[in-house]
Amino acid sequence: MRKKVVLACVVCGSRNYTTMKNGKDVAERLEINKFCKTCNAHTAHRETK
Ligand SMILES: [Zn+2]
Repeated sequence: MRKKVVLACVVCGSRNYTTMKNGKDVAERLEINKFCKTCNAHTAHRETK
């Protein structure tokens, strides 16, 4: 089973990315370094609901 998650910049809160994750990964929160247009830099992006 797959679940859609939204990734938000932890610095400014912008929701920049969406991704899918597998059922066995749902329990843990994703945190990925990605480019944020608002911050104009690479920042950590965390899963949000
Ligand atoms: Zn940002």
